[in-house]
Amino acid sequence: MLGDEKSVRYAFLNRLGFFSTSLIFSCFTVTIAVTLTIFLLLSSCALTKQGYEQLKEGQSTKPSVCIDETGNEYYPNRVLIGYSDVRKISQILNLLNGRLLLHIPEISVISVEITEDAKKAIQLLETEGIKNKYGIRYAEYVYVRKLVPFEIGPLQEVNRALVASKVSSYYSNYTGESLDLYLWGLRAIKVKDGWKAGYDGEGVIVAVLDTGVDGTHPDLEGQLVEGYRPLNDEIFPAGSDSSFGGAHGTHVAGTIAAKLDGKGIVGVAPRAKIMPVVLFDNGGWYVGDDYAAKGIVWAVNHGAKVLSNSWGGSGYSQTLKEAFDYALERGVVVVAAAGNSKSIQSYQYPANYPGVIQVGAVEFNGGNYIIADFSSGSPMISVCAPGVSIISTMPQKDSYGHEAKQSFAIPENGGYYGFMTGTSMATPHVSGLVALLLQKYPIAKPWQIRKMLEQNALDIETTGYDEKAGYGLIQANSVEDDLPSSGGLDYQLTVTDAYSSWRVPSVSVSLLGISSTGRNVRYFAKTNTEGIAKFIGIDSGRYDVIVSGPDTEENSNGLTRVAFRKAEERTVIFQADLVDNRNNAVRFSSSASLRLVNPPPAVVNSQIVFVDVTKLPTETGYEIAMNLEENFVDFSELSGRYLIKLRLPQKADTDILLSGTLTLNGVEIPVNGKITKNSTETYLSDDNGSYTWWTLFGKAE
Ligand code: CA
Repeated sequence: MLGDEKSVRYAFLNRLGFFSTSLIFSCFTVTIAVTLTIFLLLSSCALTKQGYEQLKEGQSTKPSVCIDETGNEYYPNRVLIGYSDVRKISQILNLLNGRLLLHIPEISVISVEITEDAKKAIQLLETEGIKNKYGIRYAEYVYVRKLVPFEIGPLQEVNRALVASKVSSYYSNYTGESLDLYLWGLRAIKVKDGWKAGYDGEGVIVAVLDTGVDGTHPDLEGQLVEGYRPLNDEIFPAGSDSSFGGAHGTHVAGTIAAKLDGKGIVGVAPRAKIMPVVLFDNGGWYVGDDYAAKGIVWAVNHGAKVLSNSWGGSGYSQTLKEAFDYALERGVVVVAAAGNSKSIQSYQYPANYPGVIQVGAVEFNGGNYIIADFSSGSPMISVCAPGVSIISTMPQKDSYGHEAKQSFAIPENGGYYGFMTGTSMATPHVSGLVALLLQKYPIAKPWQIRKMLEQNALDIETTGYDEKAGYGLIQANSVEDDLPSSGGLDYQLTVTDAYSSWRVPSVSVSLLGISSTGRNVRYFAKTNTEGIAKFIGIDSGRYDVIVSGPDTEENSNGLTRVAFRKAEERTVIFQADLVDNRNNAVRFSSSASLRLVNPPPAVVNSQIVFVDVTKLPTETGYEIAMNLEENFVDFSELSGRYLIKLRLPQKADTDILLSGTLTLNGVEIPVNGKITKNSTETYLSDDNGSYTWWTLFGKAE
């Protein structure tokens, strides 16, 4: 237990609620009291009506998509399961009557195809009795995410004219490429400052996690290494066309590493290598967090040093978090698009996982650089980069992802090119510059690379750091910096109950404060099943560490713990000066008592029974029974999750209505129950006899 921590109850939680809807977590909805009905299976999901307007239709069957309790889209017939014992996988499959889709041993997770809605499977797997028996670390939805192009230029002529009119009058030929006129993005980041210093990305592999890449494009020939298609567990050779999901990935790849050969365009890092990983496959559909995680781990295992992610979506996924942590912990730099929703938000992933370099989009506006109107903001945004009317490579005529109407061929090399707009296009500019920096410092930590980008960025818009532009527009003279020796660290927080016996999962941990660069920072992560929240490669600084849960309302429902009321939720805050790598521990504790109000005579000599949720669904494990004296019991010493029953010594000869007050962590919660004639017991709940569980952490010393 830390000396300076303190428990803060209701008043603080109101504050947190304010933050959570406006600043930190960006909740979609105001918390409402939710009663978990353990035994009642929920109805099948409602199909989403919104959707995929930016993805190509018609190439494959549109997958059906459902919406979870907090509005996130997921694939209904798949479930992700973090396991603790590899030998029990077959038992888990039998339990679910499911088929193993994939297994990622590096992060101990499997994806299982099931015939019913994942909601039911997750409820079953999250039942503690099942969880313990089968060694389930967690079970979660396979969320649906999207590419984030704002626009695939519908009228190439308009884009060409637009860019030409804005750029050509300001600069003479910069790169020597035949489409140089349109490469305003390279001018904006002064890429030649990097090249002149001797850095062009040589020896660095950048994984493009996207729709695949057309390696037959003349400006990409020789620029690719082997790629991976997780959906088919297929490795394809360098130089092949893998644009299965459309043109997007080919466009991104060109911005990173198109050839410097006088023809067409050139990328930021023309000697880097592109590793295509197909996360948006046939038809442009997202393969799911399960296959995405497999692709991420594959890329790390096969030598990628940068992961370029021009995609995202809502829904906190523990599996994706662990896959990206797997990368960050191995020194792999993760870059991700902020999104194109205009708003300040923090629920888009992967952009908002700690340690990720989140990128906004910049527009060239007649000599000035401004943040693009569509570009999303976030407290976690790092830098911005060119993202409006960006010209790059497009799949060739005979390639899978060819876009006949959205691209044009040039005579110099026969290659196809086109314009796209979005934070999707800004992201590969950053990934390319990261390749230059990693060429100079191959074993740099991800936060050191991020710092080099941030401290050299061109401050645009609001003076200083802001949540739309981050530190500003990246500049290639970052390569002249020495490797930063301070300013970043890895932080881990472990959360247990009062007795250090229960490692509490799905606890929300926020770091709010001032980083060593003077910036307001808000990081967010949840504890994993070992009760550990990881923040890899964050800024050093002085932070309030806010630890709340596990029943707090979440902006996304990744681990599917259903939130109860918030008022009595445990929250611990303490201040931490984070300079070097640090592990902290927090122990939750709780106080809990029950008082019945004017119980009828038949209730005298009855018992209060605590049913340990971990023993469900067999419901045989009555842990503790207490005699009810003076209509009051204190059960602060309990730790775990319990249903509370009142049991009569004999059958009721008439219906008995009960009411009382359950005081949990100082918050008085009315409870009631009804014992019907000829029965002996009822659950006491805040919702008329349904199965509310109460989360307890034991009595502080
Ligand atoms: Ca070229």
